[in-house]
Amino acid sequence: MPELPEVETVRLGLEKFLVGDSFAGVQVLRTDSVGYPGVKEFVKGLTGRKVVAAKRRGKYLLLELDSNAGLGVHLRMSGRLIVADKKHRDAQFLRVLIKLKSGRELRFEDMRVFGRMWYVPPGEEFLKVIPALQELGPEPLEGLTAEHLFGAFRGKKQAIKTALLDQTIIAGLGNIYADEVLFQTGIHPLSLAGSITKSDADKLVVAIAKTLKEAIRHGGTTLRDYANSEGVNGNYQNESWVYGREDEPCRVCGTEIERIKLAGRSAHFCGNCQKKLRRKSK
Ligand SMILES: [Zn+2]
Repeated sequence: MPELPEVETVRLGLEKFLVGDSFAGVQVLRTDSVGYPGVKEFVKGLTGRKVVAAKRRGKYLLLELDSNAGLGVHLRMSGRLIVADKKHRDAQFLRVLIKLKSGRELRFEDMRVFGRMWYVPPGEEFLKVIPALQELGPEPLEGLTAEHLFGAFRGKKQAIKTALLDQTIIAGLGNIYADEVLFQTGIHPLSLAGSITKSDADKLVVAIAKTLKEAIRHGGTTLRDYANSEGVNGNYQNESWVYGREDEPCRVCGTEIERIKLAGRSAHFCGNCQKKLRRKSK
């Protein structure tokens, strides 16, 4: 599943290869992939539009188009957004195909069809067309502060790992990076969110930024890389502290990394390095 660093990698690729190009023709191969408006309006609205900027909010990609229109994309579980030359042709799971004025194509591929594209007509706003954007907490790489985190966690009787994944508290932090951040701060994933101190909140904010930036760096900066490498998680996982390393020795102390189920997700941790704050939560 694409997490924030993967989505940011896609955004950087769109900035490089798509901004300045125009949509010459739009083909919807799977109507479920269009979130707004209807398919007919989607095709008509996008055709002829020029891409002005590629932005991101949480895991949403927000393409700004000329005439104050927009195109929002969420990749969800299995979506991929690729700028390709025509010879790069593998039609599997292709849901929306946009031919570009440059002769390239913008391809939205999505095996499981949970991903969505939303057209934002001129005069409307991303926030209105995609209401989930209104619920998002601050961006982990800009705007997230220790004060916010400390305040949001105060009194919470939820495992801290689960609270870190709450998108209304932090936008876009996913399962892999939440595990990594907790390892780096020495906090056990089952600790109560409400039990952290102000100093823990400081350390969490620093670890979140550091971990995500590192992952973005490993992600490379081209869509081509993203398309050819089955996502960036693979690169990052080779370097991870705990994620995906069940039963392997902790890189710090040698203790076997544990994996548990938590709120329907998996959590990886070192029971020796991450003792801090473990008391009350189950
Ligand atoms: Zn350890």
